[in-house]
Amino acid sequence: MQLLEINREILLWDNIRELQILIERLESLFSANKEVFAETKDLAHTVKELLIKIDPFVEIYSKKVCSKCENICCLNKNSRYEYDDLIYVLALGEKFPLPERNLKDREPCYLLTEKGCSIPRYLRPLRCNWYFCKDLLKEMESAPARAFREFSNTFTLMLHKRQQMRESFFRALTSLQCSV
Ligand code: SF4
Ligand code: SF4
Repeated sequence: MQLLEINREILLWDNIRELQILIERLESLFSANKEVFAETKDLAHTVKELLIKIDPFVEIYSKKVCSKCENICCLNKNSRYEYDDLIYVLALGEKFPLPERNLKDREPCYLLTEKGCSIPRYLRPLRCNWYFCKDLLKEMESAPARAFREFSNTFTLMLHKRQQMRESFFRALTSLQCSV
């Protein structure tokens, strides 16, 4: 399995065993090459801090809107981690929230509980953190201009740092000239 060639997260979600193998390989890669991936890890931590920073703002508005929602978007098909998410979570040294079985698209997300999402925002797939439905966005835009601007700037910076993290990871991987 060539790490550089894998960009088929959707297929992997239909094969949890293969996904688990990929996760274990990435974990070993990070653990055996701490120096090589130091920059990637630093950038992953910066992304985490930025997500923690925007959390209170998003939480205020999603609590208001999502609690009344009749068409909750937390379905498996909307929550699948992509390859970049795997790199990010494992670069943080966090345990990847692997489901116990293959998931059907229309089932409620395996991380959803009665109290909402069971994992902190910084560990959620980017697509969850990126998705603001029309109602939620409208509510967020009603925030004081300064607070909304700060949220927006922090979010943009987070995306930029995440892109840098991705590039750093592949640079490091190339430098190792490895395939796992
Ligand atoms: S983000 Fe929008 S669609 Fe999703 S649960 Fe909240 S209100 Fe509903
Ligand atoms: S990971 Fe959390 S926020 Fe994302 S779809 Fe699942 S329950 Fe919802």
